[in-house]
Amino acid sequence: MNEIRIGELSDNLSELNRRIEIACQLVGRAPTELTVIAVTKTWPVSDIEILTQLGIRDFAENRLEEMEAKQSALSAHDLTWHFVGQVQSNKASRIARAADVLHSVDREKLVPLLSKASLELGRELKCLIQVALETEHRAERGGVAPSEVAALADSIASTPGLVLQGVMAVAPLNEDPAPAFSRLKGVASHLRAKYPDACWISAGMSDDLEAAIAYGATHLRIGGALLGNRPPVR
Ligand SMILES: *Cc1c(COP(=O)(O)O)cnc(C)c1O
Repeated sequence: MNEIRIGELSDNLSELNRRIEIACQLVGRAPTELTVIAVTKTWPVSDIEILTQLGIRDFAENRLEEMEAKQSALSAHDLTWHFVGQVQSNKASRIARAADVLHSVDREKLVPLLSKASLELGRELKCLIQVALETEHRAERGGVAPSEVAALADSIASTPGLVLQGVMAVAPLNEDPAPAFSRLKGVASHLRAKYPDACWISAGMSDDLEAAIAYGATHLRIGGALLGNRPPVR
């Protein structure tokens, strides 16, 4: 294994853990309440292997083909795979087979497709509802409007093969992430009032993890801060 890369990733992880610790201290949370998901899109399998040695077990991809290829290369490892990309309907069943957690359920139409595939495999797919946090109706980053979360939640919760696990969001572009994550926290508590087990909040990326932690994130999706800012050309 490449010693230089091991050193880089190890330093990045230390720095990330330091940021998480400080952000938690500021708001009276414990770092153990948070799961770091390494978003390894465009990065090689060798990086994932290094990260597993450093103790990371949760990995995310946003393209199905890339996730499948990495999974088969890493099948000897016991890892949790998160899918964070947009779900095309014609790929929903393959995504349901490959992912342990789907962060981007954003429409009713996906529910029966995901359910069928999960039931065929005899497993359960953890589902997060992706919430659009834009204040104007732009939804450039995907997701359902906060007002539509309840109906989609009822559908997922009542469908076999699917587990309603919580919400996910990406902060709007060119906006202060704090008010957006505050809105997400409101949506999440509303959801939890009806479905107490749907307690995950997947929010926070390399540039806004502090704000996400302040507003209750349970799962951070970290790319650049762990892997570096220049993905390899391919
Ligand atoms: C790429 C990606 C991330 C990670 O973003 P960074 O800014 O590199 O930490 C998180 N969530 C989603 C949905 C992504 O596509």
